Amino acid sequence: MDYKGTFPLAWFNTLPTPFYYYDLDILRTSLELLRKEADTNRIEVHYAVKANANPRILSLIQAYGFGADCVSGGELQAAFQAGFPASRVVFAGVGKADWEIDLGLEADIFCFNVESAAELEVIDQRAAELGKKARVALRINPNVQADTHHYITTGLSENKFGIHLQSLDEVLDLCLSLQHIELIGLHFHIGSQITEMDNFAGLCARVNEIQNHLDQRQLSVQHINLGGGLGIDYHHPSKLPVPDFSTYIQTIRNMLVLRPGQSLHIEPGRSVVAQCGSLISRVLYVKKGLQKEFAILDAGMTELIRPALYQAYHKIENISSEEPEQKYDVVGPICESSDSFGKQVVLNKTQRGDLIAIRSAGAYAEIMASNYNLRPKAPSYFSDDMKR
Ligand SMILES: *Cc1c(COP(=O)(O)O)cnc(C)c1O
Repeated sequence: MDYKGTFPLAWFNTLPTPFYYYDLDILRTSLELLRKEADTNRIEVHYAVKANANPRILSLIQAYGFGADCVSGGELQAAFQAGFPASRVVFAGVGKADWEIDLGLEADIFCFNVESAAELEVIDQRAAELGKKARVALRINPNVQADTHHYITTGLSENKFGIHLQSLDEVLDLCLSLQHIELIGLHFHIGSQITEMDNFAGLCARVNEIQNHLDQRQLSVQHINLGGGLGIDYHHPSKLPVPDFSTYIQTIRNMLVLRPGQSLHIEPGRSVVAQCGSLISRVLYVKKGLQKEFAILDAGMTELIRPALYQAYHKIENISSEEPEQKYDVVGPICESSDSFGKQVVLNKTQRGDLIAIRSAGAYAEIMASNYNLRPKAPSYFSDDMKR
């Protein structure tokens, strides 16, 4: 069935635009499936807060018993506020400030995912100061390919992320020498919006090699964390509202060789929340260009920056119109040429006032909003609150 017809149009017509709309039934279905797969395969899931930190979304995810993966002090605070227990919180990021490290230490979070020797030394110092011992996992840059946009691949040696394989031994030695550091795991994250399972298989093969190397050094860790990155189908948001967690987890399970007693962790972000959200906006004007027509929306790159930032595709629908289809360049009102949601988009014939849904906007949309052009922050609405 076409999801377009399921938007609560009568309710939407009473709301000022633009706004984010979250279908919490889709989110709950995704979370139930992920819970089931994680339990069956004994995987610990840390939701990547950076994909969407809306408090309602965070508390719902927390209620399913998942942990949180944070990349800043602000995200740590948001995770704690939403009820994630510190014992299930991991803290990654290539540039952690002292106050952020202190926040993690004081809360006694499960693990710092450490990205450099320099950071390791600072965490050791801060932990000494606070009378704590920091549990850490080394984030290793595995130098494996992820077939995704080059801005969102992170696991190649040219990227700024993680510890290079060449310096691993040195950093391991450092870990062992520091008094206030406890090495508990290895951490990886190769990028985002990855739909080729081969990429995850490649990562697992590399992890196996690294574990063999640790064996040779007679070292072992309790935790292997493979990060996030599972992609979604932006072209068919209605066909696949719930991602295929099962194939993803089976790929990992088939490839990865764990040591006895080792536990496996993942950090999905996008795949959990992307399909439950849409950005809803109104057409302000239809403008005839020389060769084409523009649909000018009241939402722009300030509400959803992915198309401007990564040339990302989002499905766009005119949910007010059933008229014959026509092509439009769909653009926002911001004073930037890159403020465009799509060129030559097929929409039902569009006029001023029509409601436009930009789909798959649950991840990396609201959280990346800015107030450029001094635009106010767009509100969010939830299916559970629908006025019937
Ligand atoms: C961004 C990020 C994630 C989540 O990535 P998704 O592609 O949204 O699943 C997980 N772990 C780390 C370390 C990240 O930086």
